[in-house]
Amino acid sequence: MALQKPKGTQDILPAEAAKWQYVEEFVRQTFKRYRYGEIRTPMFEHYEVISRSVGDTTDIVTKEMYDFYDKGERHITLRPEGTAPVVRSFVENKLFAPEVQKPVKLYYIGSMFRYERPQAGRLREFHQVGVEAFGSVNPATDVETIAMAYQLFCDLGIKDIVLHLNTLGSPASRAAYRQALIDYLLPMKDQLSKDSQRRLEENPLRVLDSKEKEDKQAVENAPSILDYLDAESQAHFDAVREMLEALEIPYIIDTNMVRGLDYYNHTIFEFITKMDQLELTICAGGRYDGLVEYFGGPATPGFGFGLGLERLLLILDKQGIVLPIEDQLDLYIAVLGEAANSKALQLVQAVRQQGFSAERDVLNRKIKAQFKSADTFGARTILTLGESEVEAGHVILKNNQTRQEIEVSFEELSTNFAGLLEQLQ
Ligand code: ATP
Ligand code: MG
Repeated sequence: MALQKPKGTQDILPAEAAKWQYVEEFVRQTFKRYRYGEIRTPMFEHYEVISRSVGDTTDIVTKEMYDFYDKGERHITLRPEGTAPVVRSFVENKLFAPEVQKPVKLYYIGSMFRYERPQAGRLREFHQVGVEAFGSVNPATDVETIAMAYQLFCDLGIKDIVLHLNTLGSPASRAAYRQALIDYLLPMKDQLSKDSQRRLEENPLRVLDSKEKEDKQAVENAPSILDYLDAESQAHFDAVREMLEALEIPYIIDTNMVRGLDYYNHTIFEFITKMDQLELTICAGGRYDGLVEYFGGPATPGFGFGLGLERLLLILDKQGIVLPIEDQLDLYIAVLGEAANSKALQLVQAVRQQGFSAERDVLNRKIKAQFKSADTFGARTILTLGESEVEAGHVILKNNQTRQEIEVSFEELSTNFAGLLEQLQ
């Protein structure tokens, strides 16, 4: 056991890593168009950075934290999510200063850690890309950010993702709703799961977020937050809806969605897809206007989302979407005998230095096995290098698909491989 990977973690091997690289690059390019800049924060934080901002009664903080005391007796946790660390950094680095252009738009890509029960799309170390925009109360910022996630899914060719939209309103709206929810749930307290009975006292909105069957049943006819919005909250929500419609982004209103973190207000959303009967959230986020102040900065509104990369790759796979991953080999050199060993090395190096990919045999294998490797690698061109070729200073370069051949000198291979490829088109 101890010499295997920890439960809930993954080794990502080269073929799979190529998909990760593709998706990450795709995401970076998309974010760039929306003018987000990358931020890299530490993989671990002081426990308090996460605990109170994400919420002392949330599952993440009560059950899922990888926390420990380091050798200096500091209470540390591996980060379970990206927003709190980014807000911490925003304040610590004074990105609220007037000379920094607003809104400040940041994105991150990296590992997150949660002690969960591992299953498909649920790991203990997983990866998120996420974005945070600071400094705008404009509902257009909410919609621009949601639209960016939507564009990612569309451009990757993912189908059947549904945008769930809700609002938590202003703190006052939320407080009024909280009371209404308590009044509704209290008479059926005994029917709730153990966890939710506790949640009812500590943080009743969390009951709406429960995945337990009995809780889901109990909240089916729960009062809706939409009936408790004050005028400002209503106006913000209406504007978000109008703008989504103007961009023709389909959505459904889901008043039982509250998100698993406490720092949100106003707009919250999730992109949800069905997989093998299971509902899986790929991307989730919302507005958090109080969080910068909580970290000691000046009142600054925020909006962001987190998107799970394992889940994104899982859905691409399930929907049969093949990513256009390039893995081409421009030249394979079959090597015959010790006399050609050093020259083969010089030639692959020279071709690589010209910007092409090249491989050669290093195992002194039979020629047939070498040609087979070239085919497996999908080599565009191939040449065979033996003692006589080394002495003559030229070889036959062959197009591995058309079988067309030309005689070329080592000099040409070393200085003009591009030209040779063109001749062999
Ligand atoms: P869930 O309800 O599925 O537990 P969550 O509300 O805890 O999700 P968030 O904290 O909003 O999730 O994280 C944003 C995204 O990160 C999720 O939508 C999901 O794609 C991904 N994610 C969250 N937890 C995990 C995990 N344990 N393994 C893999 N991906 C995860
Ligand atoms: Mg969770």
